[in-house]
Amino acid sequence: MAREFTRRMTMGKWLEGKPVADRIREQVKVEVAQHQKTLDQVPGLVGVLVGDNPASQSYLRMKEKACLNLGLYGRIQVLAADISRADLKERIEGLNADNRVDGILVQLPLPKGHDTQDVISWIDPAKDVDGIHPINLGLLLQNRPCLSACTPRGCLELIKSTGTVLEGRDVVIIGRSLIVGKPLAIMITNENGTVTVCHSKTRDLAGIAARADILVAAMGKPGFVGPEFVKEGAVVIDVGSNAVSDKAVVRKLFGVDPKREKEIDDKGYTWVGDVDPRVIEKASWLTPSPGGVGPLTIAMLMRNTLDAFKRRRGL
Ligand code: NAP
Repeated sequence: MAREFTRRMTMGKWLEGKPVADRIREQVKVEVAQHQKTLDQVPGLVGVLVGDNPASQSYLRMKEKACLNLGLYGRIQVLAADISRADLKERIEGLNADNRVDGILVQLPLPKGHDTQDVISWIDPAKDVDGIHPINLGLLLQNRPCLSACTPRGCLELIKSTGTVLEGRDVVIIGRSLIVGKPLAIMITNENGTVTVCHSKTRDLAGIAARADILVAAMGKPGFVGPEFVKEGAVVIDVGSNAVSDKAVVRKLFGVDPKREKEIDDKGYTWVGDVDPRVIEKASWLTPSPGGVGPLTIAMLMRNTLDAFKRRRGL
């Protein structure tokens, strides 16, 4: 069975997200409590859900729960999928004007008919805790202080937690989305890594990836990145988070895994990353999925909301 084989032959270590995320969450919690005591104010985050996509609902509930656990003010604003452009703009402008709100997060993807870039551009950049407003992306390019995207920040924290230094390292990122691949490429360039960004038109993807000291997969293709993509001893970060309902796909990657098969029976899907778990036999570190990057994304959202709160008050 593939899973048993993986356990026996393991060379690398699983890079779990929870311990790294817990450290960040604890720091945020302590600082929020201090602000509550001295200012009688806490950072506030509003998640905007347009429509009723179940995955988006569950992501936002996790974020709301994280806020409550760390002492932040967290709220979800639910809007109809067919809300007009003018009404949606007015709602976001209302949040921009609300002083209790330090962070505004529009959960993506938006339902059909809404122009994502248009909607993001309405958010006050000082409250753009997802770090995807054009102003924040521009500041990131200039390597100046800004609110920057949570998932790439989480990837950096994970890489650094292994003791890996980015300076001078060859880093390959598979995926060039605005929320993951592109901002991560800028962040790593700002830290003096040498970055190659790959995408669906890249030729010899496995050959390029196999030259990386650090490989990041953010493509949304379950188990796509196999051992042939990985240099011996590389640090591999699996951003992918794919709901897979086909047991044959799961068996090919994990062998017979009763826990995952039960999840498919109960929920209809199991979460699978972009990286084949057998990569652990070549990598020095590999993040599991789920349980790797995901916890860091939420912890970084909390940190960004706290940062926004402080900047808006000149602290
Ligand atoms: P996205 O917007 O769909 O972008 C996917 C990227 O992968 C695109 O740049 C695409 O290339 C590239 N790609 C797709 N198939 C490829 C192939 N066969 N070969 C090479 N490149 C390929 O996705 P995303 O929003 O960045 O998310 C990527 C994954 O990360 C998803 O599984 C998502 O669920 C997950 N994610 C996880 C978290 C977390 O917190 N754990 C956060 C965000 C995203 P083109 O540009 O050429 O189309």
